[in-house]
Order: sequence, then C-alpha cells, then structure tokens
Amino acid sequence: MYLVINCPSCGKIIMASTANMTRSCPHCSLKIDVRSAKVLARSRTTQEAVEIIQELKQRKSKDSPVTFKKFRA
Ligand SMILES: [Zn+2]
Repeated sequence: MYLVINCPSCGKIIMASTANMTRSCPHCSLKIDVRSAKVLARSRTTQEAVEIIQELKQRKSKDSPVTFKKFRA
C-alpha cells in the first residue's frame, strides 16, 4: 500500500510506502513519520500513486478545494 501525504515542513505532496515507518522528503529532506502524516490518498501501486499526485497538483494549481473522492479509502 502506498500513501500520498503532505510534507509537514514544505507542504509538498509526496508518496510513501506503508512498508516504511519514515520517509525522507525529496524536496526539503525532512524525515517524515509516515503514520502521523496527513494522508491525502491511498493506492495499491506506485503508478496509481503517481497519477493521484499529478491530479492533486493540477487541482492545487487551479486552487480548487474539490476532494479526490475516487481514490479515498
Ligand atoms: Zn518537505
């Protein structure tokens, strides 16, 4: 299982595997506790997680508050 989470430091959207307790942010290098991070979406594959991230970024850039229902657990 993969989680799409928000980095608590820089706010960027990143992907993390639930197999790991922590994930280093590729943008600011913060070590994020995956279990306590804000989860935006969940997915079974990296491919799906990447698509979710792209979708979320597009929505963010359009400043739309619409939630990503399709991939919500
Ligand atoms: Zn970060």
